Amino acid sequence: MHVCPLCNGMRTVQRTCSECGGEMTDQGKVVDFMGDYSPYLDIEIVKTVDGVRDSTSSNTCVHLFQCLGCDAQMTEVILEISK
Ligand SMILES: [Zn+2]
Ligand SMILES: [Zn+2]
Repeated sequence: MHVCPLCNGMRTVQRTCSECGGEMTDQGKVVDFMGDYSPYLDIEIVKTVDGVRDSTSSNTCVHLFQCLGCDAQMTEVILEISK
């Protein structure tokens, strides 16, 4: 069985904002935000899903990251790990 290490609190990931160099923190699974943010995020999700379709698409979890400095958002595909 595969689980997402971020969703399960096993690991925390931070990224550097490409806009301002600030700290981007994990906001959770993108699917939890769909509906609220869809027009903007849909494009990113489609792009991401396309990129991993041929590899391990069933064992990934797409997370939303938000910058603490300028509120920029991005998505990142997290590989799930076997438990
Ligand atoms: Zn996750
Ligand atoms: Zn920023």
